Amino acid sequence: MLLRDMTWEEAEEVLKNNVVVIPTGSTEQHGPQNPLGTDHLIAEKLSQELDAVVIPTIPIGISKHHRFFSGTLWVSYESFKSYLMDICMALKHHGVRKILFVNGHGGNTACLMDIALEMKDEDVFVGIYEWWRSLPSEVVKKIYPENSIKYLGHAASAETSLNIFLHPELVKIERAKDVDTVWAPKKFGGTVMYETKEFTDCGVVGFSKDASPEKGKIIFEASLEELKKLVEYIKEMKL
Ligand SMILES: [Zn+2]
Repeated sequence: MLLRDMTWEEAEEVLKNNVVVIPTGSTEQHGPQNPLGTDHLIAEKLSQELDAVVIPTIPIGISKHHRFFSGTLWVSYESFKSYLMDICMALKHHGVRKILFVNGHGGNTACLMDIALEMKDEDVFVGIYEWWRSLPSEVVKKIYPENSIKYLGHAASAETSLNIFLHPELVKIERAKDVDTVWAPKKFGGTVMYETKEFTDCGVVGFSKDASPEKGKIIFEASLEELKKLVEYIKEMKL
């Protein structure tokens, strides 16, 4: 149920007593092979499969750390938070008490948690779902039996595979790279690098060359299954 396609009278019917999904993501570099819209495109595709009211996707997030790659856009933590808080309050005004962020971008996570806590004071439940955290370990082991962390990184195999499965026309797989690096490298237990460009030249963090539509299908279906269970759980939840 897409809010953007409804009339206000239809919206009035479905908004009360329903879970409202807010897809969030980013517009940021995703290596030489993936589109800038990767994070919000994936969040949107997952959301559209749900039995819930889905509002228009929020396509720009907290991505300043990718700024040395062309096309990356970002808003500040404060802007992102206040914009989404306003949307949550508008939903509350229409009687909504259960909101779920389907988030495609790790840089947004801390802010979404902050919003979820603040909305508790408004008697509105806010949940957060992120596909890469939801994947059951047996699914991960099946596709990446060894060193899975290297395949689940930014613009690496898992994310690239989702893109090839969901919108193959947007992926230049021949440009994919394997980069043996980690996110925000540490020294003596402390983080010492914050800009993505400092630990990856091409923007990929991990191995992306083995991405395939078959892997993307498995990942999409497994994470959607978890997401659907979460939506049902939230529907049943007593506030
Ligand atoms: Zn991403």
